[in-house]
Amino acid sequence: MKALSIHLTDICNSKCTFCIVDSPFMKEDTIVRRRVSRFLREHAGQGYEAVNLHGGEATIRRDFLEILDEIRELGYPTVFLQTNGRKFAQMKYAKTVVEKGVSLFIVSMHGATALVQDRISLSLGSFDQAVKGIRHMKELGARVRTNSVVCKDNYTQLPDIIDLCLDLGADHVNISALHTSGTALRNFWDVTPRYDEIQPYVFEAIDRAVRRGSVITMEGFPYCAIPGYEQYMLDWDENKFKMLYRTFVLDDYESYMDDFTRVKDQRCHGCVHNDRCGGVYKEYAEFIGWDEFQPVTPAEAT
Ligand code: SF4
Repeated sequence: MKALSIHLTDICNSKCTFCIVDSPFMKEDTIVRRRVSRFLREHAGQGYEAVNLHGGEATIRRDFLEILDEIRELGYPTVFLQTNGRKFAQMKYAKTVVEKGVSLFIVSMHGATALVQDRISLSLGSFDQAVKGIRHMKELGARVRTNSVVCKDNYTQLPDIIDLCLDLGADHVNISALHTSGTALRNFWDVTPRYDEIQPYVFEAIDRAVRRGSVITMEGFPYCAIPGYEQYMLDWDENKFKMLYRTFVLDDYESYMDDFTRVKDQRCHGCVHNDRCGGVYKEYAEFIGWDEFQPVTPAEAT
């Protein structure tokens, strides 16, 4: 799929302890509507199949519904929305957003219980609102993909988080490795688990989804940290996203992530996954190091 992706706001109504945008510390939004509109106009009619909106929390922009109208008027076929789901606890609002063209909601679900999710989001009630929001999205016939970021506060709950998302009717569940920038970097030692600590829980979560016949993917993991589960990594070759991020335009989001947010080590040169693997988030490599990452030899891969 060829899609546009737009960072609509730096601001959020939650305060997640690992926010990569650093929304909890942003006082004012840097995103100007004029620039968003220009980006949309410049790319209209060029075969983009969807516009993916994200933030911060895109729905808290006062002009969010107007932006959805603008996207539709410019002829883009559909909209994907990355959201914490909180505003969709109101059915009326969920209905309006679906009617304005959002067909896929990508909802952050970082806990299987309110205790865990609200502790991560530092926002009381955020779990209950997201759960209600997903129910409303499904009742309205929209597709839902959940995204769960693995952190110190939730990794032992990961299989239960995936079960909950599937019980709620998610069409696709995704597990993301913690991207150690923004607020996650400020809180690095409080939020970042080691890959070897989380591995059994990640595998159990995937096994459960597979047993249920559900679509499950992973994102941001070094391949050597998930032996035997590499096939579940999101295939970015199938998804090309051109992104407007503040004043920058990134022609290919995933190449940017590989080139600027992750690093490789000498050992990667001899690894069979070197071509596909993006490596390790650079702050993780700097603070925790490489001792748990071992290159996979051709003999081990067969
Ligand atoms: S050794 Fe390097 S290239 Fe191989 S899977 Fe690990 S991080 Fe990726």
